[in-house]
Amino acid sequence: MYRVLSKTKHLSPEIPEGLVDMSVIHIIDDEPDIGGLIREVVEGIGLKCQTYSSAADFLDAWGRVAEHDLIILDLMMPKMDGIELMRKLVERGCPQGIILISGSDQSILHSAEVLALAQGLRILKAVAKPIHLSEFSSLILRHAEHMGEHAAKRRSATDIPAEFDAEELEQGVSMGQMVLHYQPQVQISTGRLVGVEALVRWQHPRFGLIFPDRFIPQMEQLGIIENLTREIISTAVERQRVWAREFFPFGMSVNISARDTSSLGLPDQLAVLLTTHQLDPEQLTLEITETALIREQVRSLDMLTRLRLKGVKLSIDDFGTGFSSFLQIYRAPFSELKVDRAFVSRMQNDTEAMTIVEICIQLARKLKMRTVAEGVEDEVALQVLAELGCDLAQGYHIGRPMPEQGLREWIRAQMLSTG
Ligand code: C2E
Ligand code: CA
Ligand code: CA
Repeated sequence: MYRVLSKTKHLSPEIPEGLVDMSVIHIIDDEPDIGGLIREVVEGIGLKCQTYSSAADFLDAWGRVAEHDLIILDLMMPKMDGIELMRKLVERGCPQGIILISGSDQSILHSAEVLALAQGLRILKAVAKPIHLSEFSSLILRHAEHMGEHAAKRRSATDIPAEFDAEELEQGVSMGQMVLHYQPQVQISTGRLVGVEALVRWQHPRFGLIFPDRFIPQMEQLGIIENLTREIISTAVERQRVWAREFFPFGMSVNISARDTSSLGLPDQLAVLLTTHQLDPEQLTLEITETALIREQVRSLDMLTRLRLKGVKLSIDDFGTGFSSFLQIYRAPFSELKVDRAFVSRMQNDTEAMTIVEICIQLARKLKMRTVAEGVEDEVALQVLAELGCDLAQGYHIGRPMPEQGLREWIRAQMLSTG
């Protein structure tokens, strides 16, 4: 998926020497945040990077841009926009690879790409905002590899491969290498913990901690996600019971994949699990992304309805990023709506994002659904959400996803501070 994931954590720690001097990545974007994020990706990979806040600044530096450099260009900028800059680059016979980024809609981005290609520019990719950092890192890595073919061949064995094979993935699951981190969700009005979201990571013996966007999509594609989902739910539920005794009972949210929604056995498996752990089904929420729902529409409705009948809560995740949102929540029996973090994290300086957040919250309330804002990164965002009447908040400002022990400490500290 397409989101701004946390910084450089997805990146392999090192890149062989040879690549470092190969090329510089030039980022032209008036939004310092985006420039900063991409810079982290680039530097995380071990490449050099130069940021410019305007097209004019970049043109001034043109003499120092080498042939094998890479240009990342935002289309929408005040004064000289990306299209105009590209026209100037055509005049200068720009041979560099270019990645276009844009916050405007897909059709504008597409026509800009076509236009640039027609003028002979080397467009490597047109990417819509919100940008997906892992996608960016693989684009940049690919560029680096292309530029330093020989150096790239000597890439150290510790680099995380772009793909794993099914056997390796399944082994990871069966050997218990998939671990869960937990991110707190608090009630905005009281600041109290009401639940945690379980997020999977792969503790790989060779590559270290691997984040889900590096292996979940692939497991879905290979059709081998179901075992993992089962393991995750059972671990999460078991933890939940332990914590209820240690502290107080709170909810557990688990992500399920599009694939899982078409496996009709899930409701029955869950019922068994809930009985075994003597858990209130109301304390378990299954998060399903909006896009997943759209893909697996028909088959999933049956299973989702059965899950609700068993009392489990359902949450629609990344809300606002799909295309037929209204239809989905009308049809499927959701109890919670999670406003996508792309909107939440931008609402303070983007009125459209703010409008979307506001409308999502109102819509959910009318439909008697609980609202969760994810990606709450500062106190101001929390205040705004309180004013908008959002129920729960989740995000780095409240707490990062933490391993079990980290969460325990977080809860203890929170209990001390809220009394
Ligand atoms: P998601 O369900 O939207 O999960 C939230 C993601 O946002 C997590 O990334 C979390 O670390 C990150 N995040 C939390 N707070 C903030 C914040 O304030 N700012 C920013 N920028 N990011 C924040 P993570 O753990 O890398 O997970 C990525 C995605 O992988 C998840 O997105 C989910 O779609 C998928 N995923 C994670 N765990 C599982 C799982 O157990 N099963 C399945 N099927 N998918 C999973
Ligand atoms: Ca989620
Ligand atoms: Ca989400």
